Amino acid sequence: MGRRILFLGPPGGGKGTQAKLVTKALGVPHVSSGEMLREAMASGSELGKKASAYVDAGDLVPDDLVVAMVKERLCKDDALCGYVLDGFPRNVEQAEALANAMGSEGIETTVVLHVDEDQTVERLLRRADLEGRADDNEATIRHRLEVFRDETEPLIAYYGDRVLRVDGVGSIEEIFCRIVNELAS
Ligand code: AMP
Repeated sequence: MGRRILFLGPPGGGKGTQAKLVTKALGVPHVSSGEMLREAMASGSELGKKASAYVDAGDLVPDDLVVAMVKERLCKDDALCGYVLDGFPRNVEQAEALANAMGSEGIETTVVLHVDEDQTVERLLRRADLEGRADDNEATIRHRLEVFRDETEPLIAYYGDRVLRVDGVGSIEEIFCRIVNELAS
């Protein structure tokens, strides 16, 4: 049986980087709602047009749009033997929609990366220079952190005893090692 893992953490907390490494190690697809939305925006699709104002402002895209997008992705054959979710669910409503859609094939383990706020802002400002993402400016970053605290952090309690807490400070390799050890225990 493959693994069905969710990565949870503040924007700039390194979850995308770590989710990709775990994905590679496990040979399951990386399902990143943020990347899927950015691709939709770049392609100019209907979904992309509807999502862009929310993404650019650092607000959550409406649940119905995101839930439909991720559900469709998880129904593809390559997700049959597991997946790594990154950025979805982002609130309790999305988590409930996912649980209803997936039944016993829902999230099995949640990895929470802990990083303090000043560090995440610093990392995101660095990424803004490298990747040029429109939502990586300081005002939007602060807003995304607020959205994380208000909407996403309650998921840690929601997933309860299926949560693995990992210190997200250190080198990419150090953090990856911690995650692998936690997932193996
Ligand atoms: P991320 O790449 O995960 O940091 O996501 C970038 C942006 O995409 C977020 O600030 C939201 O605007 C949007 N987004 C990504 N995932 C979701 C989600 N599950 N629900 C709503 N909006 C999302």
